[in-house]
Amino acid sequence: MTSTVSARLSRHTTLPQIRASFEFFPPKSPEAEAALWSTIRRIEPLDPAFVSVTYGAGGTTRERTLDTVARLKRETTLKPAAHFTCVGASKDDIDSTLDAFIASGVRHIVALRGDPQGGIGTRYEPHPNGYAQTADLVAAIRAKGDIEVSVSAYPEKHPESFNFDSDLDALEAKIDAGGTRAITQFFFDNDVYFRFLDRVRARGITIPIVPGILPVENFTQTAQFATKAGARIPPWFARRFDGLDGDRETRRLVAAAVAAEQVFDLLDRGVFDFHFYTMNRADLAYAIAHLLGLRPADVSHAA
Ligand code: FAD
Repeated sequence: MTSTVSARLSRHTTLPQIRASFEFFPPKSPEAEAALWSTIRRIEPLDPAFVSVTYGAGGTTRERTLDTVARLKRETTLKPAAHFTCVGASKDDIDSTLDAFIASGVRHIVALRGDPQGGIGTRYEPHPNGYAQTADLVAAIRAKGDIEVSVSAYPEKHPESFNFDSDLDALEAKIDAGGTRAITQFFFDNDVYFRFLDRVRARGITIPIVPGILPVENFTQTAQFATKAGARIPPWFARRFDGLDGDRETRRLVAAAVAAEQVFDLLDRGVFDFHFYTMNRADLAYAIAHLLGLRPADVSHAA
């Protein structure tokens, strides 16, 4: 059988440099921490562009995010980035957390507003002594010195945005304030990403817009989250997971195939940077990175 994916794979064996980054969330328990660290150790030899650690809704994981990035800096060769939100925090709080990140050796922040404290879909209220806009947070980070700042982007627009134009205004403001890379919300239809890219480039925005790739482990859960996050699930995508709710093993095989199909299509269309939402599990993201040609450093040098 000549599948599209295998044809693409063989065509892409001598690819330009692929840059992958991997996103984790800070663990809640000693067991979760052990699982995360086994994932990190698996990913480390791939020498990713960076690995990022999320900041819990409403800043709830400040200490755990800080501990995780500090340990990444101390104990691995990885380049950690800390996600950081301004929701529910005063400028003074933000300042001291930033200082703590910097003291731990972090030189890359993924700067975000954060979801409203009442949850996605409720009204966002900036802290009375905080930053009203994410762009203001970006500027505050850049004022700390030579810190790389990545920001978010929404190919299907942020659910709170009035329209695409106001969404792009917000993106432009974050870039003007010093953001040098945007990482997208996950999406499943690559055309959506390319249409967004056209809109972004038409505005004269030139920074990398790195696609956020979510390998779908649990379709039902993802569909619920996607609805809230404003990411559309195309009917053809849903059909791939039809009838697999009770069949974890097949679902995982399908998930790997579907994510591989997505990244190969992006690759064919000129994308070389990928950000993987790992959900703290190495296997799917690792397998897809492998398909993209990433190898543990010692193996690739030998090839
Ligand atoms: P912004 O860029 O600030 O805003 C996005 C859009 O919403 C803009 O178009 C803006 O105009 C519009 N908007 C903002 N506020 C309003 C308003 N009051 N009224 C109308 N429109 C408004 N969340 C976390 O809590 N922790 C994380 O670690 C985290 N990591 C993320 C990583 C990535 C790559 C992405 C894409 C999202 C992440 N999020 C995280 C989610 C993010 O915090 C939410 O989507 C949040 O609602 C928006 O924050 P932002 O910085 O992405 O948006």
